Amino acid sequence: MAGTIIVTGGSRGIGAATSRLAAARGYGVCVNYLNNAAAAEAVVRDIAGAGARAIAVQADVAREDAVEGLFESAGRALGPATALVNNAGLAGRVNRLDEASSETIRTVVEVNLLGTIWCSRAAVRRMSTRRGGPGGAIVNLSSGAATIGSPGEYVWYAAAKGAVDSFTLGLAKEVAGEGIRVNAVAPGFVDTEIHAASGMPERLAEDAPKVPLGRAAAPREIAEAILWLLSDAASYVTGTVLRVAGGR
Ligand code: NAP
Repeated sequence: MAGTIIVTGGSRGIGAATSRLAAARGYGVCVNYLNNAAAAEAVVRDIAGAGARAIAVQADVAREDAVEGLFESAGRALGPATALVNNAGLAGRVNRLDEASSETIRTVVEVNLLGTIWCSRAAVRRMSTRRGGPGGAIVNLSSGAATIGSPGEYVWYAAAKGAVDSFTLGLAKEVAGEGIRVNAVAPGFVDTEIHAASGMPERLAEDAPKVPLGRAAAPREIAEAILWLLSDAASYVTGTVLRVAGGR
């Protein structure tokens, strides 16, 4: 077995595709979710049906105490995590900054940025060879928004993802000598429910044809990049933000 992987936001979209692919590659999978227990259980059932091990664990990654509980639950059921995918995220309701609510901005920054930081800290505390751990690999979900800025849509989200890029670079250097690689994947348009949740259900139909490759990505195409970065095939790759955006 490849080890134990925790996929935050593993119940839907890119996280669900990553959970399924990780199971196929030999990981025991901890499928984290926030509200949608049915979706998380469906992913776990798929994985179990294919003969691999998975559990669903509810935890809000924005809460430090919940993140500790997530790692403890995963460790008890599957063994200590050797891989972490910081995928849980949201963009918030599309708006200009001067019309956006404080709650939207705060939640987006807390989940995308602080959630990534809390989970990465919990992972490093368990994986670092300096602390007696086995080493491991972390992949953070950034976004093309980090370098585009997303004006008129969600500049707070773009800012949070830009910070995820900086965090990826810094943490990668900090723990490079401790058996842990840290990278990010920056998708462009991906066919998930995040666009409707942001109030733009027509987003992909309208904008995906303008992407150089002419379409949105399927979640599985992002999962492939994530699993490659986690694998030994990427053993010399750390501190990298891999753009998987169809040329956008
Ligand atoms: P999605 O389909 O909307 O799914 C979001 C997932 O995150 C769900 O599993 C959700 O759990 C979980 N989640 C949300 N808040 C959470 C929290 N506080 N704690 C734990 N889990 C939480 O999203 P997606 O499109 O797959 O996006 C996944 C990642 O890719 C995000 O970081 C996003 O910013 C990034 N991304 C997406 C796109 C795109 O076009 N889709 C492009 C660039 C980057 P529930 O099911 O329980 O609600």
